[in-house]
Amino acid sequence: SIGMITFQRDSLLEQEYANLKNQINAAMEVLEPDLQQGNQSDVNKLLSLWAKHVTGLVDIKIISPDNQTFASYKRDIQSEYLTRHRTVFPNQPNYQIEITYDSGPIYQSLNNLLLIAIAASLLVIILLMMLMWFVMHRYVFVPLRRSEDQLIDLANYDTLTQVYNRRAFTEAAESEIQRCKRNNTPLCMAMLDLDHFKSVNDEFGHAIGDLVLILFSNETKLLIRQYDILGRVGGEEFALCLPGMSLEGGTLAAERIRAKISALPHIGSEHTLAISVSAGVTEMQDDDRLEGLLKRADDALYRAKANGRNRVESI
Ligand code: GH3
Ligand code: MG
Ligand code: MG
Repeated sequence: SIGMITFQRDSLLEQEYANLKNQINAAMEVLEPDLQQGNQSDVNKLLSLWAKHVTGLVDIKIISPDNQTFASYKRDIQSEYLTRHRTVFPNQPNYQIEITYDSGPIYQSLNNLLLIAIAASLLVIILLMMLMWFVMHRYVFVPLRRSEDQLIDLANYDTLTQVYNRRAFTEAAESEIQRCKRNNTPLCMAMLDLDHFKSVNDEFGHAIGDLVLILFSNETKLLIRQYDILGRVGGEEFALCLPGMSLEGGTLAAERIRAKISALPHIGSEHTLAISVSAGVTEMQDDDRLEGLLKRADDALYRAKANGRNRVESI
């Protein structure tokens, strides 16, 4: 029999190698008896079978059992197998045929390989873009957004008390006034001023004075609704805009704040620090604008101060 056919595996694709080997093994079984009798047309059949799977140049080496090279050549077997192999193929048993394939584009399956390569590069590109998006999002967009938010906070909030500063309060209150006028709902404006605050500073120091301002703001924030607007409009002067509230409701709200502040535990042993707040409240009239509202609330506040402080007056 014709011993075996070996391939240089390293130059073959794994799949092609398996296919070719199976085909040739199957063919060999059929061809064997004829080969022994020197039926060359069946040899051609075998080679045509290879030609179905191989295009391009093929190294063909025919080796004897004692490892002597019987014949060696390089041919395009698709076009030449018929003539060449008829003459050179040994009509002898126990010869080994070694076929090596040139590396290079000789397999039809290379087309598939190309497709796989394109798909893989597309995948890599998509993955890279996703990675880029992630990196941009994480390290550029989010921090940018965060610093933008911080800038807006800096522009709108009083740094000490974290309530709206005068400018932001004015803006927010003005739009609430417009909204309430449109919807024909009431709106209340309150001015709140800490009592004898100068003496708090004088007796306990400016730092304690600051703490009292923070304490007042925090307590007040807890007592108002989410859509009420609290702003620090002066040193120890706060304005509170209460959309949807009539004079009665607004006065009650201011009274709640006043009561809470004056009921806070007194600080200190030698000099007792008792804080209190006075408030003036007014309700929006049809032709009111923000300045007029604030002025009337201020007048009411003045009355509260004049009438003994730690009290609420309404106009
Ligand atoms: P009244 O009851 O009439 O309101 O008396 P008052 O002492 O509170 O009023 P006045 O307007 O005379 O004094 C306000 C004081 O508030 C003077 C100022 O030193 C103090 N003040 C203003 N802003 C701040 C601040 O940010 N921190 C501190 N600690 N004190 C402040
Ligand atoms: Mg004061
Ligand atoms: Mg004041």
